[in-house]
Amino acid sequence: MIILDGKKIAQTIKNELKEKIKKAGLVPGLAVVLVGDNPASKIYIKHKQKACEEVGIKYFSYELPADTTKYELLELIEKLNNNKKIHGVLVQLPLSEQINEQKIIASIDPKKDVDGFHPLNVGKLMLGLSGFRSATPAGIIELIKRYNLDLVGQHAVIVGRSNIVGKPLAQMLLQEHATVTMCHSKTKNLPEITAQADILVAAIGKAHFIKKNMVKKGAVVIDVGINRLDNGKLTGDVDFDGVKNIVEAITPVPGGVGPMTIAALLMNTVKAAKLK
Ligand code: NDP
Repeated sequence: MIILDGKKIAQTIKNELKEKIKKAGLVPGLAVVLVGDNPASKIYIKHKQKACEEVGIKYFSYELPADTTKYELLELIEKLNNNKKIHGVLVQLPLSEQINEQKIIASIDPKKDVDGFHPLNVGKLMLGLSGFRSATPAGIIELIKRYNLDLVGQHAVIVGRSNIVGKPLAQMLLQEHATVTMCHSKTKNLPEITAQADILVAAIGKAHFIKKNMVKKGAVVIDVGINRLDNGKLTGDVDFDGVKNIVEAITPVPGGVGPMTIAALLMNTVKAAKLK
């Protein structure tokens, strides 16, 4: 069984990006906007800041109060869109209820949309055109490729159909010539479907949801879930201990998809700076 070590691969990618930035004489800039004080979001942006500083991306932090209005946020994004030192603009989700997320995402310059959530970039993904790809699925594809695991003709089953993970990942896997099945909360006979997967992706948000009986022997299992247990520990959507002895490869949580998401964000930011 292979542990797909996202932390290690992400470190390799960061070293590569650091070199690339130095050689090209780039000064990439990433602006991260946080509204309110969601504790999980605060942790995520801290990781992003640390990673940026490590590779030489200038990090611009905008932490706004929870009662920030849509108009104030739109005004800030317009400034960031016009700021030549900033190549990537990221608004940390979720936003507070009074703000329409889709409106905010659509206001980001698509050329600075390093999260790959803008409708233009989502459309480009559908059409197979180059553009910014959503960081979590892009990180997953990168991880699979760096371990030289087969994608062509493989049956990939994704549990979870969110706009940020499941749906874009399905498109990316299709482009890699996998045969893709999407599952969600209304899917019937879920264990029968997941048990057919050569590549099984869990992006559900429920601790230890995927059990041994749902996994085919020799499958590659990608666990996207991040769930905090009562004891404070982080765990994935897959019952890691239950399935580890039957799979070919599996991502740990933490240390699997999480660091790869950040690595993909950095790759997108460097790409944005290069395109400028
Ligand atoms: P969402 O809550 O947006 O989506 C969850 C999906 O799981 C939905 O499509 C839902 O179905 C499906 N689902 C829920 N219950 C079941 C069930 N009983 N059977 C089958 N499907 C079910 O989550 P996200 O995609 O945003 O995130 C998923 C997980 O991944 C979370 O734990 C999140 O924290 C983590 N995450 C990790 C990242 C990383 O970098 N490692 C990045 C992003 C997310 P339906 O559509 O029918 O409601």
